[in-house]
Amino acid sequence: QNSHKHIFSWLQQQAKAQPDKLALYAEKAQYTFEELNQRVQKLAHVWFDCLPQSATHRFIAILGENQLNYIENTLAFWEIGWAIQCLNIRLSVEEIITQLKDSQCVYLLDLSSNTARRSRLAQALPELTIFTESMLTQANQVQVRQPIDLGYRLDQVASLMYTSGTTAAAKGVPQKFKQHLASATAAQQSLSVTPADCWLCAVPLFHISGLSILLRSLVIGHSLRLYRKFNPEKIHQDLLAGKGSIFSAVTKMLQDLLPYVPKQGYPNSFKAILLGGGPASIELLNACQQKQLPVMQSYGMTESCSQVFALPFCDALRKIGSAGKPLANIQCKIEKNTASQQTGEILIKGPNIVESYLHQRSSERWSADGWFHTGDLGYLDDEGFLYVVSRLSELIISGGENIYPNEIEQCLSKHPAIKEAVVVGKEDATWGQVPIAFLQLQAGFDQTSFNPEQLTEQLQALARYKWPKAFYFVKDFPRTASGKIQKRKLLTKERVNVLE
Ligand code: ATP
Ligand code: MG
Repeated sequence: QNSHKHIFSWLQQQAKAQPDKLALYAEKAQYTFEELNQRVQKLAHVWFDCLPQSATHRFIAILGENQLNYIENTLAFWEIGWAIQCLNIRLSVEEIITQLKDSQCVYLLDLSSNTARRSRLAQALPELTIFTESMLTQANQVQVRQPIDLGYRLDQVASLMYTSGTTAAAKGVPQKFKQHLASATAAQQSLSVTPADCWLCAVPLFHISGLSILLRSLVIGHSLRLYRKFNPEKIHQDLLAGKGSIFSAVTKMLQDLLPYVPKQGYPNSFKAILLGGGPASIELLNACQQKQLPVMQSYGMTESCSQVFALPFCDALRKIGSAGKPLANIQCKIEKNTASQQTGEILIKGPNIVESYLHQRSSERWSADGWFHTGDLGYLDDEGFLYVVSRLSELIISGGENIYPNEIEQCLSKHPAIKEAVVVGKEDATWGQVPIAFLQLQAGFDQTSFNPEQLTEQLQALARYKWPKAFYFVKDFPRTASGKIQKRKLLTKERVNVLE
C-alpha cells in the first residue's frame, strides 16, 4: 500500500457502506453512520474556517471526558487533516502545560467546564488559542454542500498521546493512521470483531484503550456505546439488556463489576470483557472464571496503538495469568541475558507499533531491524503464550539473583490486613539491591493492630533472599493520572505520605 496516498475517510466509507447502521450511542442520543457523518461534516466546515490550513504543525489538543462532542470533534479534525493531541483530564495543570510545551501544540479545544484551569493555561501559555464548546454552536447553521474531503493520509499522525508516566517522565507517542489501521485490522482478525458488535466504551477516549474503540468502529463498522464515567451498575444493566457485546476494562473496573455479575451470566450476545492496561491478579481471574465471565486478558501499550497480545477463552483456564498469543501480524521475542534464562525483555515488531517517540526521544528502544523494546519483562511458554512478569526498570537484582517484585507483592497481599503491597529495590552496599516493601493497610487496621512480623507465614512461600528487608506503611501510593502506581517515586523525597 502506498502510505503517502490519501485515502477516503473511514467515516465517509462507513456512511456509504452501511448508512443506516447505528454507529454511536452517547448521551441518550444515537446516530447512524450517515447521521454521524453529517454532523461531523458540519463541524469540519466550522473548523476549516477556524484553523489555518497553512499551518505546518497541524495539531489540536483536546481536553475532555468521554463525551459525544469529543468524538465528533476528533472526527472533524481528521476530516480536515488535523491531528489531535489527547490530554488526560486528570493531569495537573502543570502536567498539561508540560505536555503542550513539549508538543509545541498551540491550539486547544477545552470541552470541560473548568474555567479556573482554562485561565491558568491561558496565562502560562500566551501563544495558545483556546476554543470552547460554545464556539461550536454555529455548526448547526452550516449548510454542507459537499464534504471537505481532505482525506486521511496513512502516513500522517492521527493522534499524539503521552505514555502514562509510570516508569519515567511521560513521552509523546505520535500514532499514525496506518498504525491505527493495522491495530484495528489485527483486532478484527484475532479477536473476531465484526460489524455486528457493539463495543462499550467506559475507558477514557484520551487513552489508547478508548480511542482504539473509536478507530475500530470506523475501520470495522461496529457500534460504539459511550459512557461518560464508569458506573458498574449501569454497565451491568446494559450487558443484561443485551446492549453490548464487548466491554473494555482495566482491573479496577472488573473488580467493581464482579459483584453485579449474575450467576447465569449475561445474554449470549455478550462476547467478552477485554481486560488490559496492567496486570490482573490470579484471584481476580479465578473469581471471573467462577462466574463464567468471559474475560480476555490482553497486553499492549500506547506505543503499539492498543493490544498486541490476547488470551483466547479456550485457553483461559489452562493459561491463567498469561497475556496470551500475539495478534495478527505481530512478532515477539524475548531478549535474554543468558541462554539458560527464561525471562527477558519483551521485544515486539509489527505494523501497529509507532516508529519513534516525539522528538526522537529514547530512540534506543527501536533496534535497527525493527524490534521495539517494550521495557517489560516476560517469558513465552513452550506453546508460545506470553507471561508478563515485571517492568525492566523494576526488576531487583540482589546478590546476583533476579527478584520480581510482583511475586512478593502477591504474596504479601494474601494477608487480610493488607490492602495493597508494593515492593521496590533499594541500593545496598552488600547485595547491590535489596527488596523493601510499602504497605497500605485495610480499613480497620493500623500500626498498633498490625506489625510486619505477622507476615512470616505469607513469606514462608518465598526464598529468604526475596524477603523484604524493611517495611513502611503508607496512606496511599503515588499514582499516575490513570491510577498506576509510580514505584520510582517511592524511593525519592516524593515519598511524602510514608507513616514511618
Ligand atoms: P510509561 O511508559 O510512561 O512508564 P506506561 O508504560 O504505564 O507508562 P502505558 O502505555 O499506558 O504507559 O502502559 C503500557 C504498559 O502497561 C505496558 O508496557 C505494561 O508494562 C503494562 N501492561 C499492559 N498490559 C499488561 C498486562 N496484561 N500485564 C502486565 N502489564 C501490562
Ligand atoms: Mg511504557
